[in-house]
Amino acid sequence: MIRRDTEFKRTVLVVDDEDVNRALLGAIIEQKYNVLYAKNGKEALEQIKQNADSLSLVLLDILMPEMDGYEVLGEINKDSKLKKIPVVVLTSEKSAEVKSLELGAADFLSKPYNLPEVILARVQRSIQLFEGNKIIQATENDALTNLYTPEFFFEYGHQYDKRHPSHEMDSIVIDFSRFHILNELHGRETGDEVLIKIADGIREIFNENFGIACRHDADTFYLYTKHRAEYTSVIEKITAKLISILKSQEIRIRMGVYFDKTHEIPFESRFDRALQACNSLRNKHGSAVAIYDEERHQKEMFGARLLEDFDTAIHEKQFKVYFQPKYNITGDTPLLSSSEALIRWIHPELGFIRPDLFIPLFEENGLVQKLDRYVWKEAAEQIKKWRDKYGITKPVSVNVSRVDISDPDMTDYICKIIEENEISSHDYLLEITESAYTDNSQQIIDIVNNLRDKGFRIEMDDFGSGYSSLNMLTTLPIDALKLDKGFINNIAHGNKEMRMVELILEIAEFLKVPVIAEGVETREQLELLKVAKCDVIQGYYFSKPLPPEEFNALIEKDIEVRKELKAKEKEKEQKRR
Ligand code: C2E
Ligand code: CA
Ligand code: CA
Repeated sequence: MIRRDTEFKRTVLVVDDEDVNRALLGAIIEQKYNVLYAKNGKEALEQIKQNADSLSLVLLDILMPEMDGYEVLGEINKDSKLKKIPVVVLTSEKSAEVKSLELGAADFLSKPYNLPEVILARVQRSIQLFEGNKIIQATENDALTNLYTPEFFFEYGHQYDKRHPSHEMDSIVIDFSRFHILNELHGRETGDEVLIKIADGIREIFNENFGIACRHDADTFYLYTKHRAEYTSVIEKITAKLISILKSQEIRIRMGVYFDKTHEIPFESRFDRALQACNSLRNKHGSAVAIYDEERHQKEMFGARLLEDFDTAIHEKQFKVYFQPKYNITGDTPLLSSSEALIRWIHPELGFIRPDLFIPLFEENGLVQKLDRYVWKEAAEQIKKWRDKYGITKPVSVNVSRVDISDPDMTDYICKIIEENEISSHDYLLEITESAYTDNSQQIIDIVNNLRDKGFRIEMDDFGSGYSSLNMLTTLPIDALKLDKGFINNIAHGNKEMRMVELILEIAEFLKVPVIAEGVETREQLELLKVAKCDVIQGYYFSKPLPPEEFNALIEKDIEVRKELKAKEKEKEQKRR
């Protein structure tokens, strides 16, 4: 059980003008409570006002010089906040009891004093009544882990703060990610055992540093504990408990921390922030800690602003679709093969906003569906505009978020827009990120199969950033692999990254899947990839993403290049004859 009695002491004020009485009562009560003293009514009122938030009870003598107990009760009654603090009156006269009860006293203790146990019991009862029985009624413990239940935890946390407003505390959310998979893989019993071990680890932490904890959801724990400077040791403690039942690579503990110095924001909100920090680790593998700090707060405020402005932005067409060319480098001359549609937000006040600042945010609350539909439509219309202008079709690929995939109408919608723009499905490509495949593979495979049956081509985006095995590639329905930028960044002749890229290219060749390298910035990278038989290149080396008007120039140039090539070929052909 978590250490409670030693740390979570309520405060009681003892008011009596006689030194002996104060000392006597104090000695009894100090066993279980923090005790404050006042030796007359005036001092009592001052103490009550000063400690209004932390006082659980006042023991008030009636007969005192200067300001007596009745007067103090009267003053307390005038203040709605003070009125809530229970007062137990100390008196030897029967008549005083009735009068003080009428004035709002919660109870009375008659002098001479009873047995200490009786006094303690009555003090406790009055406090319990004052606290609305909240703590006592809530089921205290979670049956599985023996940590607190969430209700009890929150109530306890509130009371703790009230009594210790100056303690620097950390609000922590710990989450075992992919717990459901663990359950499926090893069975529920092991799952339960994991949760119990985590709870054990948490208790061990509290042995060094006070804290309370509950199991919030199935696999999520909330901790409220004295501030500490580092957290890796906390994760290590918990991991150590799990190592006996799980392989180390199966242990994925995420931890979000909110450090609260001043108790400025409500207790619950601190855990919202800790949870946010925790969730920010969602796509990280292994165990990790995230602290909710000022930077994160700013980011969150920025995010909130973007969410607020979304509808207006759609309405006012602040979102612009840019196009980045992809060049086929299998021949001597690079040829423009297609382009990728990439969204930009030109915000009237915040200026140019990069998609990685808002796409993940919009993915979280589903807005990305609306945005993507907008992009998909713009892209389809652009294909048509180019065809009308140049008489040729340049295929475009659009990004499909993992959120889009769960939308049952997605395929219908895409079919509709390509029909409206009289485009062949073969010229409309869909980029789906690798991690979407690993997240819900069967669903995605079904949808992708259906799309391919309809003639669409699917490119697996960011390949290598996720954790799909190369083996998975043999069963996945895809038409091209887009190598993640991260690989290309660091390739150099003969280095590890290059070897990795070569390996992937070899496998892709074996599977007859063309490979697109993304993020190619230099001539050297291009040459290396060309030698390794990479098919298509996308990157700043050729061009940044461009608004359609500027992209026109690339198409025009490509038309020229192709014309020249054809002429040369014809020449060659004629020479041969
Ligand atoms: P992504 O799908 O991997 O897109 C490629 C990103 O790489 C683009 O970033 C592109 O501008 C950038 N890039 C291309 N060549 C180079 C290069 O040579 N060097 C470097 N450093 N970067 C290069 P962008 O446009 O900022 O988009 C970021 C991400 O936002 C995209 O990554 C994609 O995941 C997402 N995104 C963009 N537009 C959309 C959209 O319309 N819908 C959805 N769902 N996601 C989108
Ligand atoms: Ca992409
Ligand atoms: Ca990509």
